[in-house]
Amino acid sequence: MSTPFRFAQRTQRMNPSAIREILKLTERPGVLSLAGGLPSPDSFPVEAVREATAKVLRDTPNEALQYAASEGFGPLRDWVAARLRRDGIEVGPGQVLITTGSQQGLDLVGKLLIDAGSTVAVETPTYLGALQAFATCEPQFAALASDDEGPRPEALAAAAGARCAYLLPNFQNPTGRVMSCARRDALVSAAQAAGVPLVEDNPYGELWFDEPPPAPLAARWPEGTVYLGSFSKVLAPGLRLGYVVAPPALVPKLLQAKQAADLHTAGFNQRVVHEVVRDGLLDRHVPTIRARYAAQRDAMAAALREHLSDATEWQAPRGGMFFWLRLPSGLDATALLPRAVAAGVAYVPGAPFYAGEPDRRTLRLSFVTLAPAQLATAVAALGRVVREALAELPPLRRVA
Ligand code: PMP
Repeated sequence: MSTPFRFAQRTQRMNPSAIREILKLTERPGVLSLAGGLPSPDSFPVEAVREATAKVLRDTPNEALQYAASEGFGPLRDWVAARLRRDGIEVGPGQVLITTGSQQGLDLVGKLLIDAGSTVAVETPTYLGALQAFATCEPQFAALASDDEGPRPEALAAAAGARCAYLLPNFQNPTGRVMSCARRDALVSAAQAAGVPLVEDNPYGELWFDEPPPAPLAARWPEGTVYLGSFSKVLAPGLRLGYVVAPPALVPKLLQAKQAADLHTAGFNQRVVHEVVRDGLLDRHVPTIRARYAAQRDAMAAALREHLSDATEWQAPRGGMFFWLRLPSGLDATALLPRAVAAGVAYVPGAPFYAGEPDRRTLRLSFVTLAPAQLATAVAALGRVVREALAELPPLRRVA
């Protein structure tokens, strides 16, 4: 199509989100989707949001509907700081920036730290949305060798010169893995020795099922860690509220990047959310989400045990929203997706979550959006598709 516009160089690094493309497929009637990372709508505190909205409009309509401070609504920033101090993060006044989802936090941090051609170290695999956010700054990604506990400390030690390492310690998207206390210590030591600052993304930390995860990286190395949090998974993603906690040296530039991006995050939403959380609603509400998601995790684990071939590798996650599967040798999760959708089930292939060479056998399943009975139906359909595909492999590939 002819156009007088000329695209900027950075647009070459913009790709359609594989997940959004897949979500389109899943809108077909009859498809059970395990693809989207959508929190269960049953977990939204609708009544509390309704009451808070009415109160904000009644008590402070003019302030709520006016332009507001770029840093965010003061009382909400104070609430975030107090909450993080509970987790052991030393947050001083003025270090909290309210953002339009933590996704905006990733975008701003990218703008702050990444030059074209500079290196950003990431986990293998890592959150696709961070790869997308950082890609517009045209970095080189260094994919850190990783295991069941996250990146290997020696891989991070070898990443000296990287502008930052982007890490997801708790119930990682996409693998669901959590870093042990020892791994956190070792990663922080490696990062300090290599002089590589950390960007810690923690939207899932509160969604633990068995026991709370160890203290955040930001509690271990406050001056070397930018911490990102979100209200999306504990309240509702449609509010688009997240936050960045930055070491004081970064705050002025971060604020300038925020101003340039959108002046400020919706003040109305911030006041509503502050009204919802100020009296401790999350302490009562989050345990109900944990219980709901733990039951769904159990339902999916049972279905996977029943329906997936023994050669498929997976572990039940201890929190968060995702199972990560590795199909038997010879299968490719991207190639298998159209067959799965035809059989009535959708998932996200693992390949787009890799900054380096992808493991094409991997895929991500969300266990929180569907009810347990639907999870069983969906996993049974996936099991049939995998068994059929396995049976079609040439005999040699099958035993390999
Ligand atoms: N980080 C991770 C790891 C995520 O999974 C998500 C949401 N899928 C985000 C950041 C962005 O979340 P939000 O913008 O809704 O806070």
